[in-house]
Amino acid sequence: MDRCIFCDVIAGRVPARIVHRDELVVAFEDIHPQAPVHILVVPARHVASLNDTGPDDAPLLGSLLATARALARARGAEAKGYRLVVNTMAGAGQTVFHLHVHLLAGRPFSWPPG
Ligand code: 5GP
Ligand code: ZN
Repeated sequence: MDRCIFCDVIAGRVPARIVHRDELVVAFEDIHPQAPVHILVVPARHVASLNDTGPDDAPLLGSLLATARALARARGAEAKGYRLVVNTMAGAGQTVFHLHVHLLAGRPFSWPPG
């Protein structure tokens, strides 16, 4: 595997503001926030994209969403709303090939997305 920036963050080789860590998932602040709250929730082990998951990964995928939901609550975003985004492959805007859920909150979001 080529060097993975998110594996480096998880291992502490690259600094980041880590806001949650358990056996399955790690969450940290995005380096270029697109909203007042912009957190990345990622698998603790390397998974390149959602395409690399299968039925056995249901617990991991559930943990990613459950963690995003808990962080949305912790940041006070429940009532006004928040957006979860999983860009999958370059055509959808994925630039880091370590699966991640973007948690975005703190401003209005339009639809459809760009
Ligand atoms: P993608 O475009 O793959 O859906 O999102 C990748 C995200 O990772 C971007 O929002 C980008 O700002 C963020 N990112 C890229 N490199 C780093 C880094 O080294 N540290 C942190 N905290 N975020 C990063
Ligand atoms: Zn990785």
